Amino acid sequence: MRAIGRDRSRILDGIHILDGGMASELEYLGANINGPLWSAHVLEDAPEKVVAVHRAYIQAGADILETASYQVSRRGYAEVGLDPARADAALLHSVALAREAASAFPDRRVLIAVSLGPYGAALHNGAEYHGNYDCTFADLVEFHRQRIDVLASASPSLAADLLAFETLPSLAEAEAIGEALAPHPELAAWFAFTCRDESRVAHGELLRQCAAAVAALPHTAAIGVNCTHPKFITALIDELRSASGKPIIVYPNSGEGWDADHRCWTGSSDPAEYGDQANAWRAAGAQIIGGCCRTRPAHIRQVANLIPNPWSLPS
Ligand SMILES: [Zn+2]
Repeated sequence: MRAIGRDRSRILDGIHILDGGMASELEYLGANINGPLWSAHVLEDAPEKVVAVHRAYIQAGADILETASYQVSRRGYAEVGLDPARADAALLHSVALAREAASAFPDRRVLIAVSLGPYGAALHNGAEYHGNYDCTFADLVEFHRQRIDVLASASPSLAADLLAFETLPSLAEAEAIGEALAPHPELAAWFAFTCRDESRVAHGELLRQCAAAVAALPHTAAIGVNCTHPKFITALIDELRSASGKPIIVYPNSGEGWDADHRCWTGSSDPAEYGDQANAWRAAGAQIIGGCCRTRPAHIRQVANLIPNPWSLPS
């Protein structure tokens, strides 16, 4: 990891625009993300497509990129018969690809955050959306510790700027990450929770309770919400504000609905409407706004248009 000052919130000073969905964008580029590891397959099979998606988001105005590593973990790789060592290499490779994309924009300050999915993401059964895991607290700590150790010992050329723990469904998982991070006080991280309504995370605890727990960690650069319906976000920002003074990051889904019976997305999402909603989120107190599932560069461009940027975006 890069050297980071004592106040980890400062790393996000002046940063407002996160990127949008990776997996769906890879699909639009013709990549196959239907395997159990989603976009992680593409890291090995078609890395140039990952770089192309990163580049599209920078062009749309993003000043933070998330790596294509949400599904990368030793546990997740082992579940599908892959050598766990390959997961460690894929994690670092995902950072290198994001850096490669950012290096094409030398006049822009672009941060790289490593996307780290929750334990449920490694089970490949959607368990992150309820957080009822059949494992011990120690298992959760170990799951997160493995990836944190790999990232903490990365050489400077493969180091990310911060860790993005996201789609977190429960207070227990946030607490487990805090324990796994304890040996590495130099690391900066954000914590984003997936929520089921206007006040509770997927597993049922209050978001404000989860936010207060991670706000106490020295690593915390921002706290927020992701992979959640946009209609809940304004109320959830109020919850976050009541829990801590940390910068707030929100990156909800596009607003389309997932039909589990037919395994497809329903409805549509209008980028302009997403931009209007982002305006309300900014007014409510969100410092950093991006997008999760099914959001595209067009959505991020709308978000980026909200604030005066030091660069001019091509129309
Ligand atoms: Zn999502």
